[in-house]
Amino acid sequence: PFEVLVVGGGPAGAAAAIYAARKGIRTGIAAERFGGQVLDTMSIENFISVPHTEGPKLAAHLEQHVKDYDVDIMNHQRAAKLVPARQEGGLHEVVLESGASLHARTVILSTGARWRTMGVPGEEEYRNKGVTYCPHCDGPLFKGKRVAVIGGGNSGVEAAIDLAGLVAHVTLIEYDSQLRADAVLQRKLGSLPNVKVIPSALTTEVAGDGEKLTSLTYKDRNHGTEHRIELEGIFVQIGLVPNTEWLKDSIALSNRGEIEIDARGETSQPGIFAAGDCTTVPYKQIVIAMGAGSTAALSAFDYMIRLPDE
Ligand code: FAD
Repeated sequence: PFEVLVVGGGPAGAAAAIYAARKGIRTGIAAERFGGQVLDTMSIENFISVPHTEGPKLAAHLEQHVKDYDVDIMNHQRAAKLVPARQEGGLHEVVLESGASLHARTVILSTGARWRTMGVPGEEEYRNKGVTYCPHCDGPLFKGKRVAVIGGGNSGVEAAIDLAGLVAHVTLIEYDSQLRADAVLQRKLGSLPNVKVIPSALTTEVAGDGEKLTSLTYKDRNHGTEHRIELEGIFVQIGLVPNTEWLKDSIALSNRGEIEIDARGETSQPGIFAAGDCTTVPYKQIVIAMGAGSTAALSAFDYMIRLPDE
């Protein structure tokens, strides 16, 4: 069995594996796709001390760094079930989709999240060519340009407020007849001169010139009419879905499906820790996920040295 088994190979999982291996304890990492969301990212400009890098490059560096240590890497392995130890200090079991079972004294869950997409024509084609999901990451790329934000919940309205300070103009598109964000955010949004809110609107298509995004089409849900907006960027803010469906019977999840953790990264089950975008951590970013992965590994080590000898 492993002393630390990390499930998920993104920034959080890679950091957890390195921190665990540096304690000289038997460490394994199982991941469906080593690199995680970073693999889908083009330019990264907020990875502190590295002014600019690209996702695939950072993902390769993550894997190389893990390989510098004695870590058992199991790539292309999807975990299907977690069976927590029956008694404190016992072995947890992670069942893989292949049918194989892994056993470990501590488990660190770092299966990340995925952005909910609009599912309209053009969205995939213009992803990273104008269509984006992360205002903290990509906002500055649209300085002085026209953008739309899709979604009028808290994250959409926060994104619109954030972007209004950077870009020329923001159109906020909401499916419902009114915004769902907190009143204080809506007031702030209403005070901004370069933001227009369009409620009762359903985005139907994203179009471009083959190279980059040039327009968005939406349907007015009250009148059934179609409208086109010329713009350079679209920020889709209709939810971040944690990859935790496989955990709902084994550990406590928030009502959004995020793994509940405390300040040490521990879940509701002793000896099972979690880190990164799959947890209740308030911000989902690479540096934050790495810090959380390191915290989880140090907590797992701390947990183990306190266990009575068998
Ligand atoms: P992830 O990166 O999501 O990794 C999850 C890992 O778990 C993957 O290896 C996945 O294959 C694996 N996994 C999932 N389910 C299972 C399972 N059941 N069994 C086994 N393995 C599983 N952040 C920034 O800081 N700066 C940026 O510029 C930036 N740009 C971004 C651009 C895009 C397009 C996207 C999508 C995200 C961007 N982010 C950026 C956010 C950043 O990528 C995430 O915050 C970060 O990757 C989270 O790390 P993580 O390790 O928690 O999860």
